[in-house]
Amino acid sequence: MNDTRFALAPSRMQAVLLCTCALLTTLVGCDTGPTTRQLLIENVHVVDPVSGLTENRQVLVEDGSIAAVTDASAQLALNTQVERFDGKGRYLMPGLWDMHVHFIYDPTLTHEMADLFLDYGITSVRDTGGDIAQLADLRSALPSPKPNIYISGPLLDGKFVVYDGTDPSRPPLGTGVAAPGAADATVAALKEAGADFIKIYELVQPETYDALAAAARKRDLPIASHVPLMMTADSAGPLADSMEHLRNIELACASNWQELLAQRQLRIRNFTEGLGYALRAGLHSDQRVPAIKRYDEARCNTVLDTLTSTIQVPTLRLNTVSHLRPFEREDWPAALAQLPEATQMAWQARIDGLKRVLPVDPTFSQWSIFLIERLLARGVPIGAGTDTPIGLGIPGYSLHTELEFLVQGGMTPQQALYAATVTPAEFFRMADTIGRVTQGMRADLVLLGDNPLTDIRHSRSVEAVMLAGEWVRR
Ligand SMILES: [Zn+2]
Repeated sequence: MNDTRFALAPSRMQAVLLCTCALLTTLVGCDTGPTTRQLLIENVHVVDPVSGLTENRQVLVEDGSIAAVTDASAQLALNTQVERFDGKGRYLMPGLWDMHVHFIYDPTLTHEMADLFLDYGITSVRDTGGDIAQLADLRSALPSPKPNIYISGPLLDGKFVVYDGTDPSRPPLGTGVAAPGAADATVAALKEAGADFIKIYELVQPETYDALAAAARKRDLPIASHVPLMMTADSAGPLADSMEHLRNIELACASNWQELLAQRQLRIRNFTEGLGYALRAGLHSDQRVPAIKRYDEARCNTVLDTLTSTIQVPTLRLNTVSHLRPFEREDWPAALAQLPEATQMAWQARIDGLKRVLPVDPTFSQWSIFLIERLLARGVPIGAGTDTPIGLGIPGYSLHTELEFLVQGGMTPQQALYAATVTPAEFFRMADTIGRVTQGMRADLVLLGDNPLTDIRHSRSVEAVMLAGEWVRR
């Protein structure tokens, strides 16, 4: 017996009573009250990221939430205005998340991204860095329908700031928090301005990192972070709710990690003048591949075992972009053609540049995909994010590429869907209200033509998208 209608919240009891009364007088249709809006999706296969596939269900959506998921024979209390939708042969899954996007990175895309996300079934996004006032304004100014947008505000960096806006090709996504004493006021101001979480970056000092984390905890704001370069993944990670790009885990997993860390710390201490971007880029390019070459599984297990409560957002499609080139995919031209002409032209120049870089060093790309299996083995949670539009990330489209890479790395399709639904909801402590196709969840849903559990590429077969109970794409 799957009819969950009988385990209703008190607020809905009234509607049931009304309906029961109506049933006494007529057996066809009844009224759950003038304010209850009902939509019934019939004959649909439900793909839930936790329980998997259940065939031929009916899904009742009431006032923006899922009121019931039952077998076809179950009698539901339907009102006379119920809208019916035949989902025969289709697959209904929760709306997807992209856990790592930047609305204000590329001005030609800022106002296009929200629509593209919905086109591809992405109903929620986490903006992981940009000016807080600009992002808060954008979030309210974007016309509906739009995905649920959660913002962090700027990348919280150190005395030197990686994204300081000096180079016009890199927008000022970051801000400096030069001393631990400034952390509390910084986080308080962000929360006041509308931040849903904070994002800590790579040049922050360890004491400031700790102070920022404490300030965020105090205000119940989740923490997304890169590993600060003065620290290691296992020292910084446990304080964060999510870590981005798998970056700097390679250093922590190297047999000579202490030596590499000491070199790195010395260079940062001695850096008194110049661009934060150059300091960061220099360290990555000098230490990343040597660290991977000294990968030590036993050491890495110790590191990963500290991260079982910290979601890793690997952004595999970004980490692999120069090696496993997105523009060589068959579906690339059609996806690119959806972008504004100015974006297409700028990206084409970048693609031409990438094509000239030969040979490409595949070390970091391959290592990133390899690490997925290790994260799974050690029970480290994984979230799906893309960094779109950075690194040729087409909004929406690139999330599906990310899902493919996660499966390539060793996840089952169901685990990959979980990474793009339940895990991001967990980051925001919302997993009891969003991310599944079960009673009580918000009706952010995607209808697919093909089963994503047999082949994750089917997540692209989007036929309709629902946001809080309303079809926004059909
Ligand atoms: Zn980013």
